[in-house]
Amino acid sequence: MTIFYMKPSVKKYVRSALLRFGLLRLRQWVRSPSLAVLYYHSVAADRNKQMYAVSAGITIEDTDFEKHLQIISNEYHPITLDDAAAWLANERNLPPRSIAVTFDDGFADNYHIAAPLLEKYGMRGTFYLAVDAVCRQELPWYCRLHHLFYQITKKESKNESVILDDIEAKQSWNLSNPGERIAAEQFYARQCVVLDGETLRRHVEKIESLFNYRLDLTSSPKMMTIEQGKELQQRGHIIGSHTFSHGISGLLTQEQLHREITAANDILEKELGTAVEHFSYPHPYQINPQWSEASLAETRKLKYKTAVLTQRGVVTKTSMPLLLPRVRVQNAPEEFRWTLERAFAGI
Ligand SMILES: [Zn+2]
Repeated sequence: MTIFYMKPSVKKYVRSALLRFGLLRLRQWVRSPSLAVLYYHSVAADRNKQMYAVSAGITIEDTDFEKHLQIISNEYHPITLDDAAAWLANERNLPPRSIAVTFDDGFADNYHIAAPLLEKYGMRGTFYLAVDAVCRQELPWYCRLHHLFYQITKKESKNESVILDDIEAKQSWNLSNPGERIAAEQFYARQCVVLDGETLRRHVEKIESLFNYRLDLTSSPKMMTIEQGKELQQRGHIIGSHTFSHGISGLLTQEQLHREITAANDILEKELGTAVEHFSYPHPYQINPQWSEASLAETRKLKYKTAVLTQRGVVTKTSMPLLLPRVRVQNAPEEFRWTLERAFAGI
């Protein structure tokens, strides 16, 4: 672990030596076979153009994504989550260094950019749809909240000071101060993650009204349509559920969980006309706990083959299929390779 505290130049040298001489692979060889489930959100030709609604932080440029796929197809073994589920159920073996690619939320660029690139390299991915956002063709609430705070940075660049008085919450924020702005965004995110359905929609609109601003949903980036989801299934990809409203399952009541997980699954299956067998827990603003015993029970009742988290780690034979860790990868190809090698080596 000491290598992470070295000077950047030394660290880079050690890293490339470890990669070149395959020392990390040696460490992987003595570990049990494992699988890395990678997760992405949005793919775009220009990340910065996404800033106005979908955070650039969850966007990868198409050229970088293609480089990831080249690395996966040359150096690893791409599989699907159905393969992973069969492996976990002792129904098949997996090649060493297996990789499954997943996308959360269901942005339209997954259909237009990610899926064709995956297919170009003979791969198939899993796309988890935030059901309400996809059915309404509107961005999920967290994009709308992010957008409100992004607007502030634009005003700030014109040297306009922005004070937000929330009388009901008895809070006053100086949004020109970056620290207060982050705290305010977290404050409103925490209000949202425990709500669902219409209550959540109304609450986001109430927050927007505090800012006297509403995101133009007609010109914002789109979600994929159900028809596009169906087409992806026909092309061999997997469509999974990402709940109805994209709240934090670990903080929802039993009644909410039933609506968010079970009822959302029913809607998605009815719309797609096929069984939905995979699930991804939303994790907006990384607010914890991401899941609870009650949410786990809900996914068990639906007999999902797999459910994935954002918790970092590789999947091993002893992993619980309904609580699978994933690996968030860095965009730059060298960082990507390093992240994967570290994950497989368990460091
Ligand atoms: Zn999500």
